[in-house]
Amino acid sequence: MTDHASTGLRVRVPQVKGQIKLRKTKTAYLGSVRFFKHLIVTVLVILITVPWGVVAYMAGRGQVSRDAMLLLENRLAAVNDEKQSLFDEYEERLEQAALEQEELRLLLHQMETQLTRAETIYEFQSAYGHLHPELWVEGPKEYIDSSRTVYLTFDDGPGGSTKSILEILQRYDIPATFFIVGYTIPGREATLRQVAEAGHTIGVHTYSHVYRDIYSSLEAFLDDFSKASTLIEEVTGMKPDIFRFPGGSMNIYNETWGNTIISEMLSRGYRYYDWNVGSGDTSVSASAETIYDAVIRQVNSNPYGVVLMHDGGGNRSQTVEALPRIIERLLREGYRFDKLTNQVRPTVFAPTSFSRG
Ligand SMILES: [Zn+2]
Repeated sequence: MTDHASTGLRVRVPQVKGQIKLRKTKTAYLGSVRFFKHLIVTVLVILITVPWGVVAYMAGRGQVSRDAMLLLENRLAAVNDEKQSLFDEYEERLEQAALEQEELRLLLHQMETQLTRAETIYEFQSAYGHLHPELWVEGPKEYIDSSRTVYLTFDDGPGGSTKSILEILQRYDIPATFFIVGYTIPGREATLRQVAEAGHTIGVHTYSHVYRDIYSSLEAFLDDFSKASTLIEEVTGMKPDIFRFPGGSMNIYNETWGNTIISEMLSRGYRYYDWNVGSGDTSVSASAETIYDAVIRQVNSNPYGVVLMHDGGGNRSQTVEALPRIIERLLREGYRFDKLTNQVRPTVFAPTSFSRG
């Protein structure tokens, strides 16, 4: 466009110049009428030609600019698209990287946990670490403050009184702990599920509860424990990580194997709980009154109470009768009730308590 316009301009201008040059060679031409006539013609030609050329030039330029504008706009749009797609890709990759980082972090954590377990197993390899590899749990990270807290625990169920006890706990909105005996589960699966669904803690109290068998060797204890733990997990979907020894952690049946069993179970992450408040509810002479008195007196003499009661293994009607009174009295005294978790500092018998009987 520019070329075409400027060509038009150039074609005319040399013609005019040529005329001027031709006339200049004759004398007296300068200042003559002919000269002025030519001058006027020349100026007219220039006046007509130049604006037209300028207009053509401007139009050309305008056209160029519009094209350039169109071109630039297209380029700009393309660049914007490019920018947007790069930005999208960047965001996508950023998201991907965050996900990958999280996955890696989890993987690393899993590997660390496995390594720790492998190291622990290796350390115990020569002894019992290879037995029952399913019996490993995550141990507590820290212990919580249990002051002025009462932990009601019910052993030997699920039994005939479990449902009544669940109703009382629900009425007062109190969480508790149930140490389950495996062989009592068949036929009472629904009751055990009810315990779990109510949010109470479920711990293992062995499968057979037969002292002579379970304390006869470490292997015998692990076999029995595994049977109970597996059944509990099958029924409730939860794997227990705390337990209670039948007869407590120190009794005349586990003098030989007790310490070995304890250290093995602790190294596998489990925590066990004896008690510091005995309700005496398994005694033949137990009444709601004696149970109530025993619990209140012992709770008051401990910084926090782990109360031993029973919901199975016999007629527990006196326990059921005493329970609401115990709860109401302790609530009035400002105690709080909670369930055991492995973050509660274990209440365990010291060797001296055993020697005292
Ligand atoms: Zn028991």
